[in-house]
Amino acid sequence: MENIISKYKDKGIRLTPQRIAILKFLEGNTDHPAAEDIYRKVRRRYPTISFATVYNTLQTLTEKGDLLEITIDPTRRHYDPNTTPHHHIVCTDCNEIMDVFVDYSDVLTLPSHVLREFKPVGNHVDFYGVCRKCQKKKGGEN
Ligand SMILES: [Zn+2]
Ligand SMILES: [Zn+2]
Repeated sequence: MENIISKYKDKGIRLTPQRIAILKFLEGNTDHPAAEDIYRKVRRRYPTISFATVYNTLQTLTEKGDLLEITIDPTRRHYDPNTTPHHHIVCTDCNEIMDVFVDYSDVLTLPSHVLREFKPVGNHVDFYGVCRKCQKKKGGEN
């Protein structure tokens, strides 16, 4: 907890109790929560917090490079506190997102006309699938 506070103070992020609650919820979170999920969770402890405060905090963290904004789900934006490069797979039924820690740099090549215009600095692969829970649900219906 102390680590979180000093880490963000150093970056010039103003820390209010609400913001600390958001940071605490995100620290080590691998669920890729949406802004709405974070708001719902933090509101339990800070009933007066507004959605705007949550959203603005997420924007600030994203701008400072401390949070990844994931756009794999067309219905909602999700957030990932793990900013080391990795890929994602999303369930097309329930929108659950899972991390994929594989380096595809060797197999992801760009055509030469693109490389003439751009110097690649990163990549992000979105995979789509059906999670185990949803596979089971579907199996049960038959
Ligand atoms: Zn699913
Ligand atoms: Zn992730």
